[in-house]
Amino acid sequence: MTREEYALALLRSCYGYDSFRGQQWDIINHTLDGGDSIVLMPTGGGKSLCYQIPGLMSEEGFAIVISPLLALMNDQIDALQQNGVPALALNSEKTENENRQTVDLLMQGKVKLLYISPEKLLSEIDRWSTSITDRICLFAVDEAHCISQWGHDFRPEYTQLGALKQRFPQVPIMALTATADRITRDDIAKQLDIPEARLFISSFDRPNISLNVVQGSTGKQKFRQIVQFINLHRNESGIIYCLRRRDTEKMADQLTEAGIPAKPFHAGMSVRDKQQIQRDFINDDLKVVCATIAFGMGIDKSNVRYVIHSNMPRNLEGYYQEIGRAGRDGLPAEALMFYTYGDVVTLQQFAQQSGQAYVNMEKLRRMQQFAESGVCRRRILLSYFNERFDHDCHNCDICNNPPDRFDGTRYAQMALSAIKRTDEQISMFTVTEILRGWRKAEVIEKGYDRIKTFGVGHDLTVPEWNAYLLQMLQMGLFDIAYNESNHLKITEYGNEVLYGRQTIELNRYQRGSFNVKKRQPVTEAVIPEIGATATKEMDNALFEKLRDLRKALATASHIAPYMVFSDKSLQAMATEKPTTQAEFSIIYGVGTMKCQKYWRPFTAAILDHIKLQKRKQ
Ligand code: ADP
Ligand code: ZN
Repeated sequence: MTREEYALALLRSCYGYDSFRGQQWDIINHTLDGGDSIVLMPTGGGKSLCYQIPGLMSEEGFAIVISPLLALMNDQIDALQQNGVPALALNSEKTENENRQTVDLLMQGKVKLLYISPEKLLSEIDRWSTSITDRICLFAVDEAHCISQWGHDFRPEYTQLGALKQRFPQVPIMALTATADRITRDDIAKQLDIPEARLFISSFDRPNISLNVVQGSTGKQKFRQIVQFINLHRNESGIIYCLRRRDTEKMADQLTEAGIPAKPFHAGMSVRDKQQIQRDFINDDLKVVCATIAFGMGIDKSNVRYVIHSNMPRNLEGYYQEIGRAGRDGLPAEALMFYTYGDVVTLQQFAQQSGQAYVNMEKLRRMQQFAESGVCRRRILLSYFNERFDHDCHNCDICNNPPDRFDGTRYAQMALSAIKRTDEQISMFTVTEILRGWRKAEVIEKGYDRIKTFGVGHDLTVPEWNAYLLQMLQMGLFDIAYNESNHLKITEYGNEVLYGRQTIELNRYQRGSFNVKKRQPVTEAVIPEIGATATKEMDNALFEKLRDLRKALATASHIAPYMVFSDKSLQAMATEKPTTQAEFSIIYGVGTMKCQKYWRPFTAAILDHIKLQKRKQ
C-alpha cells in the first residue's frame, strides 16, 4: 500500500470521507517528508485533518496540537473519540490525576493526538522523558495568528512557541490559521523560527455563505429586521454579534420578549454561565446567541446557519472569521451585517485608543469599503485577502440586487452647501438634521436653523440621507477631520460639485433594501461531496425524523448532536435512504466506528419511514 492509499484508508475508516479536499493531501505529504508548513485555510476548510492524519499515520509517534481554546480542544477530542481516534488533552481544566494518566498513556504509545495549551506545553515538555519526546512526530500550531502582534488576536503566551524549533529541529511544525494577511503570515514564520516553511494557501472563498449588508437601519427598525430574518430561520442555529456587552444583553432580552428565545454571551460573564450557554448552543437546545466577539472562537459547530452582525465589525479579518462560523458543513448559510455611519464613529474611537492606531484605522477603512461597496462583496473580501476572484459571485446582496444609479448632484450640493454655510463645523449627523429641518438643541443654539439650507432636504428620509452622505464621503466630496470632533471638510472635488462644475451619480437607496429571502432548497452544486447521489431528492420529512433521532442519541450519550453526525451526513441519509449496514457504511461521514454504533437505529428509522410512506400511497 502506498502512503497515499494508507492515508485514504484512514480517511474512510476514521472519518467516513472518500477523498482529500483541496490541498489537504499535499500538506500531509509535505509533513510526512519532514517539512515545516504554514497553512492558510478558511474556517470550515478542513484544517484539522491536515495534522490529524499525520498523527494517525505515525506508527509509534504522536502529534502535538497546540490550541489556545480549552472549550474547542475538549470538543474536538470528544468528536475524535466518536470516530475512534485516540486523542487526549492536557490542560488546566483537567485534574492532576487525569493529566498524569494522559502522560502514562503517552508513554505507552496509546495516544495519537495530544491537544495542549501553549503555556501547558512549555511547562510540561521539560518533564517528559526522551522516550516521549522522541516520539513527537509533529507540532501543529492552531490559530497561529495568535503569535503575531500584527494579527488581530495576539496572545502573549504564544510567543514562547518560538523556542520549539531550536529544541526539536527534526520535528516538523505546521502553523494553521484562518486569517492571516501578508504581514501576519511572514511574522508567523519569523516568530516560529521556520523560515523555510512551505506556504499552503487555500482559496478563502466560502461560496455557501451568502453575504448581505443592510445600510442605515437603526433602533427599532433594525430590531424588526433582525426578528424578521430570524423568523425565516426558526429551527436553525444562529449567532448575533453585538459591539458591547450590554448590547448583547439587551438584544437577547428583546428577542426573547419577541418570542425568539435567545441568550447573551460576553467576556464579563462567569465561566460557568459561558460554558452552559456554549453547551446549550452546541446541543441545539438554544438556537440564538447574542454575543460579543468572545463567542465563537471556542465553537466547533458545523450547523450554524446564519451570523448577524448588528454593527459593523472592526476589520475584515474579524468579520470573515465570524461569518465563517456559519455553514461549516458546506450547506447554504447567511451572513447579514447592519451598518451605519454611527458604527464608523464608534469604531474610529476604539481604533484611535488602541495601541496601534495606524494599523487599526487602516483596517477599519477597508471594512468600511466593504460595507459601502457598489460591486460584488465577495470580490472585495477576497481581494483583501490577496486572492484573485475575477467574477461576480451571485451570492451577495449586490449581485442579487444591483444598485440603481441616478444623478445625485442636487443632493450633493444640498449637503455641501450645509457644510459650507456652517463653516465646516458640523459632523455627518448634524448635516442630516439641518437638511431634514430638525430643530435639535445644537442646531438652534448655533443658529443653524436660520441658514438657507435648513430643511431643503426634507423629501429624503433619514436612512436615505445617511446612505447618500456615506456615498459622498466615499467618493471624496468631503473628508472627516477626526481631530476636530469629526467635523466635515469639503475637498477640492467637493467644491467643484458644489459650484456645478462636476456632476456625480449615487446608488439609489432601496427602501427596505432588506430582502434576504428564504433559503433555496439545497441544490447539487453546494454538496459536491455527495457526488452522484445529488440528483436524487432529499426527503425532508425523513431528514426531520433523523434529526430528532440524532438529538436523542446525542443526549443519551452526553455529546453534541453534530458529533453523532453532521447535517450533511443526515442529508445524505435522507437522500440515499440506506437500509442495510453495507449501504449505511458508505454514507458521507460514516466511518467504521460510527457505522457500528449507529447503523441499526438509523436504518431502522429509514425503513420505518419508507414503510409508512408506502402505506400512505
Ligand atoms: P477548519 O478547522 O478548517 O475550520 P474543519 O477541519 O473543522 O475545518 O473541517 C470542516 C468540516 O469539513 C468538518 O465537518 C470536516 O469533517 C469536513 N471535512 C474536512 N475534510 C474533509 C474531506 N476531505 N472530505 C469531506 N469532509 C471534510
Ligand atoms: Zn457577489
